[in-house]
Formats: sequence, structure tokens, C-alpha cells
Amino acid sequence: MPTRPELARVLDALEKFHGRPDPPPTTDPLELVLWENVAYLADDRRRADAFRALKKRVGTRPEQILSARGDLLLEITGGIVPGNSLEKLRRTAAIALEQFRGSLKATVKLPLPEARKALMKFPSIGAPGADKILLLSRSHPVFALDSNGLRVLLRLGHGREAKSYAATYRSVQEAIAPHLEPDCDRFIRAHLLLRRHGQTLCRRNRPRCEVCPVAKLCVYYRTARRSA
Ligand code: SF4
Repeated sequence: MPTRPELARVLDALEKFHGRPDPPPTTDPLELVLWENVAYLADDRRRADAFRALKKRVGTRPEQILSARGDLLLEITGGIVPGNSLEKLRRTAAIALEQFRGSLKATVKLPLPEARKALMKFPSIGAPGADKILLLSRSHPVFALDSNGLRVLLRLGHGREAKSYAATYRSVQEAIAPHLEPDCDRFIRAHLLLRRHGQTLCRRNRPRCEVCPVAKLCVYYRTARRSA
């Protein structure tokens, strides 16, 4: 079972190694939904470029997106495949306008289950994505993880792999939650550091354990060494 000092040690070691990653360039909840959809499944750099272009050339208000020319949106989102970001942007704008009067600022202040449910109406936003938006907009101190952060914590020995992603996610959150004080700043730091670590060293395939700053604390690494 993880303990608070262990997680704190992990995060300090990761920050020393990776530096402190930048958060997304907005804390507005609707813009965070657009951030998820503007370049679906793209890397961080491509996503940042697309989001910057959307803000500058179209705007991020729903009516601006809905009245933008299709070819301009296509150029910004990088084409129809693979995630059909153009369609996702338009659906995001339409849902925001029709169901939330064009802004999510009041919605994210609702009690957590309601706020989460509302965000899950948008394209590409499941429960983990909704939690991430609630955290990054500083609306609720939820310990949100992306798939990279989830993999890192699992390998370190927090929670367990279950049959579905949702069950695995819950297991890790439940394992960690009792050892953390709810605090948006701390959770954002943890989210970003674990994500960065999962993207760079603790990759899905062939993690780079030989240079990992937290290898001594890692169950996956210890087990792999024993079986080697
Ligand atoms: S030792 Fe390897 S598996 Fe463990 S956290 Fe580091 S990179 Fe990931």
C-alpha cells in the first residue's frame, strides 16, 4: 500500500529529473474541452500549435467555431483523419451553445458528480477526461490522471490492473486518495509530472528503467529484475 511520503518522494524525484511541465495554456473549462478535441490524439506540440491557431484565426467561443469556414477548421485541426477533430470541434461548440449557453464556467462549479456528468456530454470526454478538466480549471480538487500517469502509478505499485480501463483507473485513484490532501495545485503538479514521466521514460513499451529516477521505488522494476 502506498504511503504519502513515498508518493511525495516520487514526485520530487520526477520534478528534479524532468523539471516542472507546463500546464495547458488555459484554465477555462470550455477551452479545455476544445484543447482535447482540436488535435485529437496528437502529440503535445501539434496540439499546442492547433489550439493557438484556433484562438487566433477563429476564436474559442461556440458561435465563432460554428460560423467558421470548414476549410479553415480543417487546416487548423490537420485534416479529417484520424480523430475527425473538425467534427469534434463543431459538436463541442453546438453542445456548449445549446445546453450550456456558451460557457461551462458555472457548470464546473456544480457538485462533482453533476459537473462530471455534464462534461461527459462532449466528444472525447469520458470520466477521466472530465476529471482532468475539473482539475485543470481548478474547479474541483480531483486526483485526475491521463493514461501515462495511470501506467506510472500502476508500475510503481499503486492500485491494480483490472479488466477495464475504468476499473483500473478507479483502483489507482482509490489507492492514492487516502494519502493525499485535496489540493488543486498539488494534484495538477502530480498529474503533469506523472504524465511527462509516462510519455518519456515509463513508456508503454520498453520503459527506460535504467535511467529512471524512481526505479528504487518501483514494483515493476524490482519484479523484472528478480525474474531476470
Ligand atoms: S523504473 Fe521503469 S517501470 Fe518503474 S517507473 Fe521507472 S521507468 Fe517506469
